[in-house]
Amino acid sequence: MLTLKFGGTSVGNADAIAQTVSVIAATKAQDQNIAVVTSAMSGVTDLLVNSARAAAAGQRQPFLDARDILHDKHLEAARTLIGSEEERSVYGQHVTKQLDFFARLCSSINVLGELTPRGLDVVSGLGERMSAPLLAAALRSRGVNSAWLDAAEIMVTDDNFGEAAPLLIPTCDRVQNRLKPMIEQGVTPVITGFVGATESGIPTTLGRGGSDFSAAILGSCLSADEIQIWTDVNGILSADPRIVPQARTLKQLSYNEAAELAYFGAKVLHPKTLLPAIERGIPVRILNTFNPDGPSTVITREPQKNGLVKAISAIRDLTLMNVEGRGMMGVPGIAARTFRAVADVKANVLMISQASSEQSICFVVRRHRSDDVQMALETEFERELTLRYIDRIHPVHNVVIVAVVGSGMRGTPGIAGRLFRSLGNAGVNVIALAQGSSESNISLVVDRADFEKAVQVIHRAFFQSRSVPTPQLV
Ligand code: ADP
Ligand code: ASP
Ligand code: MG
Repeated sequence: MLTLKFGGTSVGNADAIAQTVSVIAATKAQDQNIAVVTSAMSGVTDLLVNSARAAAAGQRQPFLDARDILHDKHLEAARTLIGSEEERSVYGQHVTKQLDFFARLCSSINVLGELTPRGLDVVSGLGERMSAPLLAAALRSRGVNSAWLDAAEIMVTDDNFGEAAPLLIPTCDRVQNRLKPMIEQGVTPVITGFVGATESGIPTTLGRGGSDFSAAILGSCLSADEIQIWTDVNGILSADPRIVPQARTLKQLSYNEAAELAYFGAKVLHPKTLLPAIERGIPVRILNTFNPDGPSTVITREPQKNGLVKAISAIRDLTLMNVEGRGMMGVPGIAARTFRAVADVKANVLMISQASSEQSICFVVRRHRSDDVQMALETEFERELTLRYIDRIHPVHNVVIVAVVGSGMRGTPGIAGRLFRSLGNAGVNVIALAQGSSESNISLVVDRADFEKAVQVIHRAFFQSRSVPTPQLV
């Protein structure tokens, strides 16, 4: 039993979908029992979200244009992929119905002048509801018995719209009752990634990039032998190949290492993907749809011994918040109050660093939340600011966290020295740093203007030097 997830580029146009169909057909020839999870065609979710936002801001034209663009995009792909005229027509009607619904929704959003997270989830999930039936029909045209399934029927979530959490027990129940029988009857189901619904049937989404997570949840409920994430690169590389062209595929990573990389911005895997896999010990493999026999990465429980640093990742669009003041020294509770205020505005803290002098606390939040965080802190510390116990609450925008990940760093001396020497020689200023107690991750904060150079020089220091042991690369 295998679960295969295909990302946006793997279903981005007719050629890509034809390639995806070949991968599925070849896999099916080896293992009869497979479940397929698909993303929306690339660019579709962005277009849906942006049109809904524009509608709320008073603009009608963007959603009217988007309806036509999306209609053409899906039907153009269908023309070459779906052999039967009748099937093509049924698919065309389905797309028209979804897009009419989209236009009606955007029209209401436009009239109300407001877009709620709940409303946005209905709109943003429509892309998968158009790609899944297309992929299923393309499979049937190639002789694979397939049917699409709306994950709203099986993926039960809470009502945290925009970032809903799947509820495992009811989801696995529905997988047993609804999905498993399809597979046992020889049908290859194509399930919409990214989307779900509450117990009472209100549509939700699992967060941007969440199809990976969908596949992992369903794979776990199905007790899959492997969860396969098919994308547009040869597995997980030692760095984002868009930043480091010399980056190479890592043959194996532990769950822990891959989770750190995903958390710190390696977009190739949604950060929550590994949670369901870890629970059942299911291997997760990352493969390239456009190079199916090429290198891939497998993520398992076992840590791989060789290699100090496994990979370098980065998260952009961040703000470093500094709470500074000589009067903070020795005053108990400042840190607790700082993070309570941040939690009260539901902002996520990505990294914390405190100098031992206790004269400042600094932490990193996403840029789009930094104004709320600053305001919350200024309210919380109004008295201390007036009394000058705290001198200022000072945001530094446009920073990037660069994370250096690898369990082989644990207990190995000289890693930090090599790291900072490489950055120093290249003139990169490190604004703040933190090391996890597991010692499998060192995170640095650098300016946006320096971050590409930072990733490149760290990669050179740990992967392109003969004196440093590297992990198994392919
Ligand atoms: P999909 O649409 O298939 O889900 P994504 O765009 O979400 O694909 O993720 C794949 C992208 O992740 C790659 O094209 C690559 O640019 C980026 N990426 C970032 N870091 C890494 C890394 N360490 N290894 C591989 N790809 C990475
Ligand atoms: N289509 C969704 C997105 O663009 C989910 C995904 O691709 O994983 O965020
Ligand atoms: Mg993705």
